[in-house]
Amino acid sequence: MGPRGVVVIGAGQGGLDTAAALRARGYRGRITLVGDEPVLPYQRPPLSKGFLTGDTSGADLELRPRAFFAAQDIDLVSGTRAARIDRERRTVLLETGATLPYDSLVLATGARPRTLPVPGAGSLSGVLTLRGLADAEGLRKRLTGPPRRLVVVGAGFIGLEVAATARKLGHEVTVVEAQSRALARALTPAMSSRLVAEHLGAGVRVLLGREVTALWGSAAGRVEVVELDGAERVAADLVVVGIGVLPNTELASLAELQVGDGIVVDAHLRTDDPDVYALGDCARFPSPHAGRHIRLESVQNASDQAKVVAAGICGDRVPYTAVPWFWSEQYGLRLQIAGLTAGHDETVTTGDPDGGRFSVFCFRRGRLTGVESVNRPADHGIARRLLASGTELTADEVRQPGFDLKTHARRPQERLSHA
Ligand code: FAD
Ligand code: ADP
Repeated sequence: MGPRGVVVIGAGQGGLDTAAALRARGYRGRITLVGDEPVLPYQRPPLSKGFLTGDTSGADLELRPRAFFAAQDIDLVSGTRAARIDRERRTVLLETGATLPYDSLVLATGARPRTLPVPGAGSLSGVLTLRGLADAEGLRKRLTGPPRRLVVVGAGFIGLEVAATARKLGHEVTVVEAQSRALARALTPAMSSRLVAEHLGAGVRVLLGREVTALWGSAAGRVEVVELDGAERVAADLVVVGIGVLPNTELASLAELQVGDGIVVDAHLRTDDPDVYALGDCARFPSPHAGRHIRLESVQNASDQAKVVAAGICGDRVPYTAVPWFWSEQYGLRLQIAGLTAGHDETVTTGDPDGGRFSVFCFRRGRLTGVESVNRPADHGIARRLLASGTELTADEVRQPGFDLKTHARRPQERLSHA
């Protein structure tokens, strides 16, 4: 531990968890957590769910109360951007002109929404993206009024969660997705079509394989029309764009660290400068589960990576190997994903998809790579354990009539106890 301590840039999930994990490990040096949002670190997942309906308040979102930072001696610098990193001097320059020296630097800068590259999208009011609390407050205000015609662009997690929430609040909702199916980046076709069926059942119009070509507005500059494929026009009072994110890598690029769809790190989450780490949505890391470098956007990933970075700073070099997991909520469906399901070559579905309780097991070259479950928390929990331990489970086993993951998972222990 040097005299300069640790500077963490980005006071979101990963940044906060890094600071907390350092103290939990007994790190006694100085910790400065710099965040450009003018609020205490908060959770983002409710921003597209309960926060929009009013079920979750702003205070419920806070990851830690203000008193935590004083008690843990963590210097929280809120509402301030880090402008530049000087790796030679090992300092961070803040936009205020202040300079923070570091022994170890952690980049936890997250990601920002991609904007819609069509005429009108950048200039009309009523066209929103959703990433931070300020965005969510703006959207919530618009959704708590009288029914509106909402067009959601992008049928990813954020788009579909916003669509579900807005529909629940009584708005007329159309979802426009460029690809031929929803959630193609993250989910199996079986799961995406089941989720789309739920949206259709709730009265959402879902337009797949359609391109937004322009947005048109009133003389006052408010969005009124979404133009599709240069022809069809859909009336809209509000447009929410959820077409994915771009990692915030500019500080790293300026500091000449290796960048390419994320700040490139090794298995210990170090950049090519051993004093600089990156984690969470902004980091591209080697995943033993994917067999290549990937970037993940989830609370689990940011949180578990924070622990690995804190360990590394304390001299305990552990690689990042955690099994990825994720969740989403749409209507009464609680979707949970364990492992990585992209790249599978075989799937087996168990349970009752129509009844809203089922799991999709994904295999690649005969090996289980991930399980998507809806309202089957036990399957999710066990799948995470199986994937972490590398326990074999074949598609043929899952296909057996009456297969139950809970019963299956108990089997090896029984064998052991009889040995
Ligand atoms: P962030 O939490 O984004 O934190 C990065 C912080 O750094 C931000 O506050 C940013 O403003 C700040 N920053 C950036 N540059 C600078 C700079 N130069 N100086 C100072 N500060 C800077 N994940 C799930 O697992 N489940 C869900 O259901 C889920 N739902 C989501 C719903 C929404 C609406 C959103 C937006 C995300 C959701 N996620 C969900 C994703 C999850 O929230 C992110 O993966 C997680 O927050 C990533 O943490 P992070 O620390 O990498 O980045
Ligand atoms: P997010 O986390 O923002 O929901 P995802 O990557 O999960 O991001 O989903 C984004 C979705 O938006 C994807 O299904 C993608 O195909 C879709 N998309 C990307 N660009 C466009 C576009 N121009 N018009 C409509 N849909 C788009």
